[in-house]
Amino acid sequence: MSKCLACKEELVGTPLMVLDNMPTSAQNIPDAEHVKNDRGIRLHLYQCSHCALVQFDCEPVTYYRDVIRSGGYSTTMHDLRYSQYKHLIETYHLENKKFIEVGCGQGEFLSVLKEFPVEGFGIEHKEDLVKLARTKGLNVEQGFVEDGKTKIVGAPFDVFLSFNSISLIFIFLPSFFSISFKI
Ligand SMILES: [Zn+2]
Repeated sequence: MSKCLACKEELVGTPLMVLDNMPTSAQNIPDAEHVKNDRGIRLHLYQCSHCALVQFDCEPVTYYRDVIRSGGYSTTMHDLRYSQYKHLIETYHLENKKFIEVGCGQGEFLSVLKEFPVEGFGIEHKEDLVKLARTKGLNVEQGFVEDGKTKIVGAPFDVFLSFNSISLIFIFLPSFFSISFKI
């Protein structure tokens, strides 16, 4: 019996939905050679009777620690992040403060942050992306918030940012919140 990603209670009862012949992941799509051995899976969508979180009862994909963004950022995305950072920094008077982006990929958004008078740091699980970020002169460490004991180099920080990793929050929910409060 699977347990809820958030509250750890057992997922019981009838699933909300059963989806047959689903792809096993949204990344690492099999090529022509491997597709003949690729098989769809059955997904059971449950709602936790204890906390109401809707979730599949299967294991997460193997790459869930890695940030996956579609092709860096566009000028539109740059302008959006710039305006968000400007609003955040000016509204809360965050000049000269330390920012951490958890799951920073290759530093697309940390690069935008460099345009402001703040200190930007990032952590990213995927080694290739960490290397790319460092070639841009960004302060990025390889790591992932596995649990509440995770230490991020450079902590404590004043501002916490996360753009893509938040979509995976329920996979590592307890550790995510513990580090949010401890750093
Ligand atoms: Zn639950």
